[in-house]
Amino acid sequence: MNKFGCEMCKYKCTKKSNLDIHLSTKKHLELETLLKSNNGILPANTNTRKKFSCEPCGFICYKNACYMRHTQTQKHIDNTQKCVSSTPSELTAVSVDLMVQLLHQSKLITQLLEERLTTKHMDSKENVNDI
Ligand SMILES: [Zn+2]
Ligand SMILES: [Zn+2]
Repeated sequence: MNKFGCEMCKYKCTKKSNLDIHLSTKKHLELETLLKSNNGILPANTNTRKKFSCEPCGFICYKNACYMRHTQTQKHIDNTQKCVSSTPSELTAVSVDLMVQLLHQSKLITQLLEERLTTKHMDSKENVNDI
């Protein structure tokens, strides 16, 4: 089916004219330049670049070895320990505390509102009586 193609770009087509168009595309030319400058070795990570990122540090690299080296750095250890210190269990404890506080507050608010409503209600009753 695909008679023509560019092995380098994994490009396939059925018409020579299409291949000619492909050979003049920026994508193809860039890859060709890259190949030439790299002694004909196509970097494996050109298109399917695997990214390694370390969120706590905001660290990004494209090599596993590089990432592994990063994980050994003191900066990374410090950053990840900071993350570990806010473990879910601790977060839960904090939120339970907060919930209790909020509940207590909302109780007070409800009380206040009820008091107000009662007063208002009484007021309006008086008004109705006036009319
Ligand atoms: Zn190509
Ligand atoms: Zn890190």
